[in-house]
Amino acid sequence: MSVHKQRPIKWPAGVKMLVVDIEAPSSSFSADTGEIIIFAFIHPSWKSVRSVAYDDFEGWENLYITDRDYFLCKWISEELSDTEIFIGQYHVGFDLPFINARLAYHGFGPLRPTANIDTYKIAKKAFNPGRSFGRPSGLGCSLANLSKFFKLKTQKGKIHNIEWRIAMTNDDPALMRKIERYCRNDVLTTRDLFQKVAPFGKIPHLHLEAGIKYAADTCNYCGSKELMKRGYYRTDTALYRQFYCKSCMRWPRGRKSLVGRGSQHVK
Ligand SMILES: [Zn+2]
Repeated sequence: MSVHKQRPIKWPAGVKMLVVDIEAPSSSFSADTGEIIIFAFIHPSWKSVRSVAYDDFEGWENLYITDRDYFLCKWISEELSDTEIFIGQYHVGFDLPFINARLAYHGFGPLRPTANIDTYKIAKKAFNPGRSFGRPSGLGCSLANLSKFFKLKTQKGKIHNIEWRIAMTNDDPALMRKIERYCRNDVLTTRDLFQKVAPFGKIPHLHLEAGIKYAADTCNYCGSKELMKRGYYRTDTALYRQFYCKSCMRWPRGRKSLVGRGSQHVK
């Protein structure tokens, strides 16, 4: 079998998906001692990142210090209500519950049910599943380490601890802009990291959301027709055609079992 180097996944523009990151300085990463100060996001087909900060909204100065993300949360609950897929580093473990806690705090409802892809979780499961000899094994899965490991074009930035401390209590506009740039940078890093880890984890079926009709011999991950037959995938009771996708390097399999009820004939 010839080996194919990964080509970037081409995201259908019609799929409402965003690579996202929040900055939410707080003690112990807790949503009851901190607020969302920045939300940055990009659709993988866009050229540049967009971001929103709590001080972008008129009237934020009049809010009590613990409520300053009110307008930002309102914006999130309105503007993200049609997003179908979120991608983020620590997205499932941190960003998403933090956002939902802040939405609840301000009396907004939860975000709509979405597919949430956490690049950290994919990397951890694929490259660093456990401990051996009492120590973490495999690859360090922080964004800083992964961006170095994969030599990504955008490397993880750095905000000093004291700056996070100031951001929690002090309205320093210059520091806010610095953290905003840092957040946007993280989104670009995460977008490029996702391209690297996507073949190793579960990702939603993009072509269905894009309105591309399912055909028998298209990749169920990316919709590509560049499938190569690679024998069979076997379970106790079923036998599926196994494909290899030259576009996304994943291993889709035939939809119908070749044996048993409703089976297709092996060609
Ligand atoms: Zn594919």
